[in-house]
Formats: sequence, C-alpha cells, structure tokens
Amino acid sequence: MTISRILASTVLLGALSVFAPLTHAAKTCELTIEGNDAMQYNKQSLAVAGDCTEVKLTLSHPGKLPASAMGHNWVLTETSVFQAVATAGMSAGLQNNYVPKDDPRVIAHTKVIGGGETTSVTFPTSKLKKGGDYTFFCSFPGHWSVMKGKFTFG
Ligand code: ZN
Repeated sequence: MTISRILASTVLLGALSVFAPLTHAAKTCELTIEGNDAMQYNKQSLAVAGDCTEVKLTLSHPGKLPASAMGHNWVLTETSVFQAVATAGMSAGLQNNYVPKDDPRVIAHTKVIGGGETTSVTFPTSKLKKGGDYTFFCSFPGHWSVMKGKFTFG
C-alpha cells in the first residue's frame, strides 16, 4: 500500500518535470557597449544566444565631447547593407539620429548621444535569423569605417 503510493507520487513528479521545459518563457538578453571621445567602441563583436527572445542594448559614452562633435549611436543591419544605410544616415541629419527614417533595412538603433550620456534600445530577436551576417555601427558621419563590429545570433 505504502510502496504503491510512493511509486505513484514518483511517477507524478516525473511527469511534471517532463512538462516544465515546454513552457517557453520570454528572455531578455542584455548587451552593453561604450563609444568614447577617441571615436571607438570598446567592443568589436556582440553575441546573442539563440534562446533570447528580446535584446536590450545599452550604449554609453564615457567621454566629454558633445553629441554635435563626437556623437555616437548604435545601428544594427545585415552586413550586406550596412555601408548603404550608413551613407543614407549621413543625409538624415542629427535630428533623425543619422538614421534614414522608416528604413526596413534598420533592424534596431539607438539615438545619438554625447559625452556622459547613456541610451538603450530593446528589440525582438524575431527580426533576426540564426547564423545571419549582421553588423553594428555608429552612423555619425565619418564614424562607421572605424566604429563597427560583428553581431551574431544563435
Ligand atoms: Zn560615433
């Protein structure tokens, strides 16, 4: 009698632990990067694990120069289009954060910040393909050739 009760509860616990992993919870993965007065990011690559459902990227500027002189942002596109988007961003101007308006090639971007400021952007990973070829960059005029890096998902 007692043994069969123990067996029954063991089977029940086993069933519960099988079901638990099926619940697919939202998972926000956080990334941080800095852009400084020397026109450099402190990271050349950023990676997001395949089980992340959302990415929160925080950009900070530890320098002293204002956004008009040494502004930085963080823009994410597929590598094949990043130079074209950077060029289009130049003519969009500071009031548009040097990002072409409503451009579907832009997966995510922050605003332009100056020294002492911090900003962040949150976007869903449903916009990304696992193993895709992505590049992040600063679209402030003249910065993208130096301020860029590889972004991977999966
Ligand atoms: Zn910059």
